Amino acid sequence: MNFLQLNDNQLIKQANYLNGEWQAGNKSITVSNPANGVNLGSIPVINEITLEQTIAAASNAFDTYSKTNTYQRSEWLLKWYNLILAAQDDLASILTQEQGKALAEAKGEILYAASFIKWFAEQINADHGLTLNSPVDNKQFHTRKQAVGVAALITPWNFPAAMITRKAAAALAAGCTIIIKPSELTPFTAIALVELAHRAGFPKGVINLVTGDAPMIGDALCHDQRVKKLSFTGSTPVGQKLFAQSATSLKRLSLELGGNAPFIIFADADLDAAIDALMISKFRNNGQTCVAANRIYVDQSLQQAFLTKLKAKLPSLTVGNGMDKNVLLGPLINQAAVDKVNNLVASAINAGAKLEYQADLSELSGPFFPVTLLSDITPDMAIAQQEIFGPVLAVQWFAQEDEVIKRANNTDAGLAAYFFSNNIHRCQRVAAALDYGIVGINDGMVSNAVSPFGGIKQSGLGREGGHTGLAEYQFIKAHCYGQLS
Ligand code: NAD
Repeated sequence: MNFLQLNDNQLIKQANYLNGEWQAGNKSITVSNPANGVNLGSIPVINEITLEQTIAAASNAFDTYSKTNTYQRSEWLLKWYNLILAAQDDLASILTQEQGKALAEAKGEILYAASFIKWFAEQINADHGLTLNSPVDNKQFHTRKQAVGVAALITPWNFPAAMITRKAAAALAAGCTIIIKPSELTPFTAIALVELAHRAGFPKGVINLVTGDAPMIGDALCHDQRVKKLSFTGSTPVGQKLFAQSATSLKRLSLELGGNAPFIIFADADLDAAIDALMISKFRNNGQTCVAANRIYVDQSLQQAFLTKLKAKLPSLTVGNGMDKNVLLGPLINQAAVDKVNNLVASAINAGAKLEYQADLSELSGPFFPVTLLSDITPDMAIAQQEIFGPVLAVQWFAQEDEVIKRANNTDAGLAAYFFSNNIHRCQRVAAALDYGIVGINDGMVSNAVSPFGGIKQSGLGREGGHTGLAEYQFIKAHCYGQLS
């Protein structure tokens, strides 16, 4: 099937979407498949006038959309959800071709992305303000939840579908209108999702999508007073820039930024279960996730058993074009990503790390990176201090619980952490002691539509998913009723 088609054979657009219509631009950015360099199409570079029209469309639509009832909004969301399920194979194919991840994984992402739409569609009808117990006889106090306004949603390339729906579903359920700015590396999944939302019947101007010069778009969205909320997922430096740019408009912000997740295996853990979870946490999306196990700490008494068991699993990780059904790991997003991971590995080995395993990819050309296992990593190495964002296991040994907690917490990042232990007292102690927004306890997959997702420290502000994720798009109004005379 052709890459740019959805299941009714209608070509997906290579255009911006504003006020319910697709609009092509003059200049364009080419998008290519990271696995083989094939040109997949191009997206317009929005100009300032069209961007202004988009913000105006979202702002005008907010007046009526925010007043629709929740049952109506839920209906639109569920229509969108069902259209995504019906198109899941085509969406997965688009996603794999522009992003690289294996097709089965891409399909998993589409279903995961859809789960946010269903969850918020179902929750919004049960979401309401409160009647407060009044301390004064002749007064009544109530709270009311209202949509914050136009929300700008800026998303990264590593989860081209889920990072959009996790934001968009919450915003649309709350009654916000939205302007989506997907990564220029993976815009077609976003465009296909918006086309399906169009078919679901959302009113004109409620959903908008812009592509092009990211700094120009970011600057305009941050400074504009009509945009009341910015939700950004991406790197910490860009998040910090958007935070500063939003100061003048005092915008509400959600920033989902980079991580540096510790993955700790204590001596009393079920080692097989821990290794299975590590394989998922590390190799999902070829290591290119913000919650990927980045610093792996293993009790030194487990050293031999851990290395033997883990090395036995690594050769099964087939690498290649994600469209090939036998492939588990696709390419990295581009050559710059390969170079960065290569440098981290080389500098770690230079500084004394031991290369325990590296796959042979000599038959592949393109931005592929071999599955690599390094041990004897020390905290001062760059590979322990930065997000690796590739299929590299970087293992440190430890002896004491308090020592490993200190090492795990000694980073600016605070998104996800994981540990494995079968001692309930230790589980409670360590879960409380880890300075992270999300902690996986005997579990390597921590994200779900029901659960708040987000970090502390330099990993960001706010939460996505769950009731907290919905609240990010609402403000609470307090009503105080005196007596009628
Ligand atoms: P990035 O920061 O380079 O880009 C993210 C988005 O911001 C893209 O749409 C990009 O076009 C846009 N952008 C770039 N510069 C901009 C600017 N000046 N103004 C406005 N927009 C701008 O990040 P990336 O490389 O696409 O994604 C990888 C990063 O995202 C990693 O650090 C990863 O940890 C993080 N991430 C975090 C989460 C999370 O939930 N915390 C989830 C996924 C990815």
